[in-house]
Amino acid sequence: MARHASRARRHVRLFRLRFRSLDKLSWIADDLFRNDRSRDSMLTGGCYCRAIRYEIHSTPFGTTLCHCATCRKVSAAPAVAWFSVSKDGLRWIQGTPKTFESSPGVLRAFCGQCGTPLAYANAESPDVVDVSTCSLDEPGEVPPATHTWIKYRLTWDRTADGLPEYAEAG
Ligand SMILES: [Zn+2]
Ligand SMILES: [Zn+2]
Repeated sequence: MARHASRARRHVRLFRLRFRSLDKLSWIADDLFRNDRSRDSMLTGGCYCRAIRYEIHSTPFGTTLCHCATCRKVSAAPAVAWFSVSKDGLRWIQGTPKTFESSPGVLRAFCGQCGTPLAYANAESPDVVDVSTCSLDEPGEVPPATHTWIKYRLTWDRTADGLPEYAEAG
């Protein structure tokens, strides 16, 4: 009997320990939940026609305005703003982008329906993907910090060149 009793006490102790760890777990869960809610400010984006949508779940880095000739041609724009995220940080949540190899080892993703350039992956950096800043719903939140490939910059593509500026169509 004594043995059973001590076993029972041990069980109670174990139960309490478990309960306490469960309590701890619920705190951790609360923390996770809070973190989850803080993702309300997560970046979202997609193509013009909304066939393709994505979410960004990690911190952008390497924000840049790229003046390379390939970005210019595939986007038909003088320069293209990009930011980088870890590969796991980009989640396609609607539709599947089309891809093509713009140069050896480089895949570019775009909407097969409306053509919006969306992402860039280089085999030399397999853990990183670049996302076109202006495919974001709020591109103003991720301003470029640098200009890259300026040796290809168009001569007429100048900032602060004195030309009139219009908020909307001039
Ligand atoms: Zn589209
Ligand atoms: Zn480029």
